[in-house]
Amino acid sequence: MEADIQLKVSEIPIYLTCPKKLYLHYQGIQVAPESEQLLDNLFYKELSYQISEIDVTEEMIELLLDDISVIYRERTGSIEPEVFNAFRERIISCSERIMAIAERIRSFYVDMVVDSIEIGRFLSSKRFSLSGSPDKVLEHSDGVTTPVIIKTGRMPENGIWKDDRMRVTAYAILLEDDTGDVIDTGFVEYIREGEVRVVKIRESDRRHVLKVLKMMRRIKGGVIPDRLDSELCETCLLQDKCLSERSLLSRFF
Ligand code: SF4
Repeated sequence: MEADIQLKVSEIPIYLTCPKKLYLHYQGIQVAPESEQLLDNLFYKELSYQISEIDVTEEMIELLLDDISVIYRERTGSIEPEVFNAFRERIISCSERIMAIAERIRSFYVDMVVDSIEIGRFLSSKRFSLSGSPDKVLEHSDGVTTPVIIKTGRMPENGIWKDDRMRVTAYAILLEDDTGDVIDTGFVEYIREGEVRVVKIRESDRRHVLKVLKMMRRIKGGVIPDRLDSELCETCLLQDKCLSERSLLSRFF
């Protein structure tokens, strides 16, 4: 049954970028980020995870750089030592800026007076056939929990990106299913900018997430969406693999 098809929250942004890209993803056709980009993403994510536990000093940044290849062994194992070394030098040269952004993020959580911050809690819902791990789960003094996602990319001038809103909402739905609480707030941590933005979860967001999950299930069930044939395709690294296959249901996308 289509409703039983299991999805991951992390697949939502792929669908929102391009339904055909998600189709290819389910076929095992993906593009790994460039080594330098991958290291950058992993470093900033790991920095965010460790902010609440230890002071961010130059020494801590150096230790964190050592940790990356151990923690993310599978993903970084094939990266050439020269790429690692160049990345290391670049990060160390920005230590002061990194310490400053880390302090801003830490202050945000201190000011919020959260009871605990849990990293990477795995959530799985039978009801929604959905699973995922929010980057952080905050537990507040009234026992209510809220999801946080960490973004290592650009921050919008105002508010948050649409796909971030969808992911936060999906995690809130999973957390509600897990805890029985009503969760009306989440957070997006734009780590590179040292800023955390609050997301008020609206009914329209919940409706949109449920609709998106239905469309994703159809794709995972074998429905082939049309090519976008938009500007995005011109720079898409999957364009060679992305053929024009039409399906009856493609008009839904
Ligand atoms: S080439 Fe266009 S339609 Fe195909 S996956 Fe890329 S963005 Fe999507």
